[in-house]
Amino acid sequence: MDKKTDKKKKYRITTSCPQCGCGGEAEMSEEELKKKYGDVPNIHLECHECMMVMDATVEEDKKSGDA
Ligand SMILES: [Zn+2]
Repeated sequence: MDKKTDKKKKYRITTSCPQCGCGGEAEMSEEELKKKYGDVPNIHLECHECMMVMDATVEEDKKSGDA
């Protein structure tokens, strides 16, 4: 559909469970992010290991190689 993703922001979502120590990382576009979590600054995810609800860190994923 889109020829380039230049204009689309990408976000990196990182999680780190304080209880069991597992962590994860995911990348999604702004669209996906909003669709999944809504337009909120803070995302909470459930740990798939221990089901604890934890904060996820969302960072804008800058293009690699640009820095
Ligand atoms: Zn956990």
